[in-house]
Amino acid sequence: MSGSLSPVELPATPPFVLRGRLLTPLVAGGTRHELDALVAVDPAGGITFAGPRADRPDLADAAIDVRPWVLLPGMVDLHAHLPQLPNAGLGAGMDLLAWLERYIFPLELDFDAAVAERVAPAAWRAFASAGTTTALVYGAVYEASLDVMFQAAETHGIRAIVGKVMMDRNTYDLTIDPSTILDRSLAESARLIERWHGAADDRLRYAVTPRFAISCTAELLRESAALARSTGAYWQTHVSEDPGEIAEVARLFPEAADYVDVYDRAGGLGERTVLAHAVHLSDRELVRLVESGSRVAHCPISNLFLASGVMPLGRYLDAGLTLGLGSDVAGGPDLSIFSVMRVGFYAQNARRVAGIGEGPVLGPLDWLRLGSLGGAMSLGLGDRIGSLEAGKEADLIAVDPAYVAPIPGAVDEEAKDLASRLIFRAHPDMVRAAWVRGRRLEGPGSRD
Ligand SMILES: [Zn+2]
Repeated sequence: MSGSLSPVELPATPPFVLRGRLLTPLVAGGTRHELDALVAVDPAGGITFAGPRADRPDLADAAIDVRPWVLLPGMVDLHAHLPQLPNAGLGAGMDLLAWLERYIFPLELDFDAAVAERVAPAAWRAFASAGTTTALVYGAVYEASLDVMFQAAETHGIRAIVGKVMMDRNTYDLTIDPSTILDRSLAESARLIERWHGAADDRLRYAVTPRFAISCTAELLRESAALARSTGAYWQTHVSEDPGEIAEVARLFPEAADYVDVYDRAGGLGERTVLAHAVHLSDRELVRLVESGSRVAHCPISNLFLASGVMPLGRYLDAGLTLGLGSDVAGGPDLSIFSVMRVGFYAQNARRVAGIGEGPVLGPLDWLRLGSLGGAMSLGLGDRIGSLEAGKEADLIAVDPAYVAPIPGAVDEEAKDLASRLIFRAHPDMVRAAWVRGRRLEGPGSRD
């Protein structure tokens, strides 16, 4: 496909100016779409201009012309498990708890530093190839493998928030003495925070990561939340994914009013908290998440792959919940946030078909916003990334629309039509380049 374009020299480091088609959500609301635009990036990797070429003739001469490629903000993956990536696409037809036992725990058990050396660099390139420039991910339980994941992200250039999985019961490594596991897991997490939270000029951050209530005692949940609070790290876990899981949590925490209350009692809710899934929330749980400012990672591909359920997205948005999109690899088989948007749209239509749809239908531009700015805002980074606007950091991607055209040469003039093609005809090779702070990431185009 790239052969149909004149070859372009893509900048590897800032400063630079790109000329292309621009499609981005705006922080103030709505979308900016320019058929002939410039995006100017300063030496520090900040965006100084993103708008119509006609407005800045002074920049035009220096611009690298990538047309007909489209410049978009990099996507934000709000939930993924890096050690599970080699398993992506396997295990269809199982429910969550059986799938974890059969496919996932054995894989994470093997994820020591040596395996991480092999998998992590390739995984970060795969994120970038999918158009993701920021990822909030889980590791495995081993501290040394987390160092490798962070080092690989530091070298690669992706913006990453990573956490060591914490489990002090129903865990997979039976060689760790259960009586020491809580203190050990907290100490390891604290050391990783010290080394990596805010590293690479705050491009890397730490998320304290208790796996989910089934694998964590109330004490671990409480202590992990306190650690996150005292260090300014994020706190991430899973909530209300699957009916079997919810029933088990109710059995393990009889004192809690419901699943969200388990985390609430631990002091885990708040603006630095990202909860994955939240498919089956009661009204009480939804209100508590909104009141506390907690964020949710919506993972529709995973939720259908594991038959967990279909999130009532309209109800949550009406309630004012802040959310973004997650691949949940390998619960979801696909790293592409564009694919997540597509399946999310279909899943919401399925609710309508079943007569349980609520709220307005989200169109392609709404989904594009969720996958970029929605994720950024969920991470408290809405003022820095998630859209292409002056004053923000240059986390962006270039997409070749030829990959999604149904007939060669067809061009979509309207923003919503272009977004629709990118979502409903997303192609694994359509992302041709990705930059974080103006530094180009390895990955896109590597399969050519
Ligand atoms: Zn997950």
